Amino acid sequence: MSQVTQSIGKLIDELAKLPGIGRKSAERLAYHLLRVNKTDALGLAEAIRDVRDNVHYCRTCYNLAEGELCPICSDVRRDQQQLCIVEQPRDLMALEQAGVYRGLYHVLLGRIAPLDGIGPDQLTIDRLVDRVRAGGISEIIMATNPTVEGNGTALHISNLLSEFPVSITRLARGITTGSLIEYTNKEVLEEALTGRQRL
Ligand SMILES: [Zn+2]
Repeated sequence: MSQVTQSIGKLIDELAKLPGIGRKSAERLAYHLLRVNKTDALGLAEAIRDVRDNVHYCRTCYNLAEGELCPICSDVRRDQQQLCIVEQPRDLMALEQAGVYRGLYHVLLGRIAPLDGIGPDQLTIDRLVDRVRAGGISEIIMATNPTVEGNGTALHISNLLSEFPVSITRLARGITTGSLIEYTNKEVLEEALTGRQRL
């Protein structure tokens, strides 16, 4: 027989589904939410509802956005000739926090992973090719993760884009093979960007 009421049990079950939250942490969080004042606890529920109702993918680059375009695509001061290719919005966020890149992005929403059954068609690669075909872009910076799959994805894309008059570079120096951009610190990202090499 369970020791908790049905609604507490449900809350613990939901929290335990979150990444990195084990059963014990889920219990601790649930009791914390019962202890704090009601406004704070419901603030969390509202923030979750808001983000799910209002946030979607940018029409142009597939970053997260609340309007049609994300804040980066709507910013006319950004360099419209540079396009940095990342796997996920989290990677874009890491590069933005490093604060050294002033161009635009294209978010693939994943990487080519044959073993997981993810092919190029499931990513936003077609849309990327359309953007490059439309013209105005002079440099593509491949910032997929330096993993086997990230490198394979970068190679696939650079082959597709080879028919266009754009220079294609790859983040290189600094980021250790296999490490993930989202966990790489600002200094290393800065070095990787400035030291980018032609693919
Ligand atoms: Zn955008």
